[in-house]
Amino acid sequence: MSWYLPEKVEIKEVGPRDGFQMEKAFIPTKEKIRIINALSETGVSAIQVTSVVHPKAVPQLIDAEEVMANIERKEGVSYSVLVPNICGAERAIPMKADEWELMLSVSESHSLANANRSVDDSLKIMEEVVHLANAHNVSVRGGMATALGCPFEGRIPFERIHYVAEAYYQMGVRAFSVADTVGVADPKLVYETISQLKALFPDADINLHLHNTRGMALANVIAGLQAGVTSFDASVGGLGGCPYAPNATGNVATEDIVHMLERMGVQTGINLRKLLAVSRDVEKLVDHPLESAVSRAGTADELHQAPTRQMKIGE
Ligand code: MG
Repeated sequence: MSWYLPEKVEIKEVGPRDGFQMEKAFIPTKEKIRIINALSETGVSAIQVTSVVHPKAVPQLIDAEEVMANIERKEGVSYSVLVPNICGAERAIPMKADEWELMLSVSESHSLANANRSVDDSLKIMEEVVHLANAHNVSVRGGMATALGCPFEGRIPFERIHYVAEAYYQMGVRAFSVADTVGVADPKLVYETISQLKALFPDADINLHLHNTRGMALANVIAGLQAGVTSFDASVGGLGGCPYAPNATGNVATEDIVHMLERMGVQTGINLRKLLAVSRDVEKLVDHPLESAVSRAGTADELHQAPTRQMKIGE
């Protein structure tokens, strides 16, 4: 394997959906809108604004319509919503999102636990969702939850990922999002999975959705880059969590991925200073410490004054 870095990557900010949905206290709608507008100003390529999931399942996102209707859409930023079923698709039509992110689980047991239906039944539903999206000129991305590991089944055989990707492809979907939903993937698995998918679907745009549950997310980003991925989901402050690992960290923090990539000369288009300001704001809003290492420690180029003799500890 030779070292490879692309010139630039696209970062999709998923904090307002994947992050906020894990927050127990309701975040006022106007605060969600304010944060999304601030994120739009950081230079991010895309924002996953909300999910049209049933409010009983995710009460935090009950205001999906209001949020989508009132955010300021900045040119050059793609605003997506997560669409898990037909009811959601029908709710999403008037929202005029730039992209619908279809969601289903690749593993059978997670699909049954999370959506109460089999993978095949989910695929049938997604086919109808794709028809609706086409009829309303919305782009779609085929999400593959648990593709890189399932809390019930562990490692997923590649054949299962291939099966779901092929089904999406047959529907006309040319953009995938491969998710490490519970943060169990390692860099070797990421590299091998993405390399195989890219070989089978050379015209597909593949995004990686990584969680830092076990501290492997940035390493997995590097593995993804090596396999040719140039699109990553991330959440401001590392917001989010994992329902199967209490107290676990969430998505890879946007600040941390931007900080690492920009230091290596890979452009993200994101202004880190502005992003860190949003992160501080979000931390106050959710009222608990966030998980971003860079937010806590500062950037690697912040130099400290060398201690003088008088300042030395113990003198
Ligand atoms: Mg997630």
